[in-house]
Amino acid sequence: MDSQRSTDGSRYRLDLDGAIEIVKDMGICKVGLQVPEGLKREAQSIARLIEERTPAKVIVSGEPCYGACDLDLALACEVDLLIHVGHARLLDEPSNVLYLEARMVGNRLRDSLDQAIPLLKSRRVGVVTTVQHVHLLDDALDALSKAGLEGVISPAGRRTAYPGQVLGCSFQAARSLDVPEFIFIGTGMFHPIGVAMASGKSVVALDPITGEATIVDPSPLIRRRFGSIARAGKACRFAVLASKKPGQRRIDLCERMMELGRSHGKEMMLVYVDRVDPDVLINLGVEAAVSTACPRIALDDAARYNVPLLTPPEFELLLGEREEYKLDEIE
Ligand code: SF4
Repeated sequence: MDSQRSTDGSRYRLDLDGAIEIVKDMGICKVGLQVPEGLKREAQSIARLIEERTPAKVIVSGEPCYGACDLDLALACEVDLLIHVGHARLLDEPSNVLYLEARMVGNRLRDSLDQAIPLLKSRRVGVVTTVQHVHLLDDALDALSKAGLEGVISPAGRRTAYPGQVLGCSFQAARSLDVPEFIFIGTGMFHPIGVAMASGKSVVALDPITGEATIVDPSPLIRRRFGSIARAGKACRFAVLASKKPGQRRIDLCERMMELGRSHGKEMMLVYVDRVDPDVLINLGVEAAVSTACPRIALDDAARYNVPLLTPPEFELLLGEREEYKLDEIE
């Protein structure tokens, strides 16, 4: 494996040389390696490279991992240094974590910008992206400027390491900007839909891998969510799911949801989980659940659950405590 590039179809670039230098300089003996699900198959070659080029032994985390919110704390306790691959820093603790960020390879940004610019209605646009594409922001601003447009980027937020960066649980980079519309640079539709829902503004999604640009329509997702809220309206027995993951802990919010449900005559149960999983809800025999874990679980994975899984703002909407739909974000 090329130490600057993963073999995942060469889709991601990792600065493994830099990580290896840190392991050597710090005299690390035991390295923990945590790799997200999309790059899991790279774990063996990364571990081998570290063991070949340093005196350190590597233990790979076998737990599923979807974000920097999900550090393997047990493994971090076992090793001198935990290398967390793919994501930018989100948590300050534990301190023995090295975030080995991934950048997506393949740059058809200019093609996607050429398609996007005619779709924009304003001369001033907010620009947001995910960590895998933050290296493209300067080029995007430059290209917008050459087209006579002003691109605006917000500073890094409490949960984000880079200006303009959004997460599936934090769209502060969009909410904090006073602009008439946004462009999102990245792959997939979850983040740009989140930007549109969180900001209430029009969003054009630019895919720098395919070179395409699309106007984002959040309405199908909102319709599906109102379907889940309506189904949950028939439920009496609710579970409130509290996550054990270090960057998803919201116990105060859980307790508020418990009180709210009880005050509306619902039977409420507070459940502590490592992973939100359909089987947990089946085995508990609840009729609906409110998840305070990663907001993407309720929004992205609803079809996997045989009972409605709501976010906290959706539960408030169900109980008449809120009037308008609001995206769940972790502060
Ligand atoms: S809570 Fe979800 S969206 Fe946020 S960082 Fe974790 S996995 Fe990503």
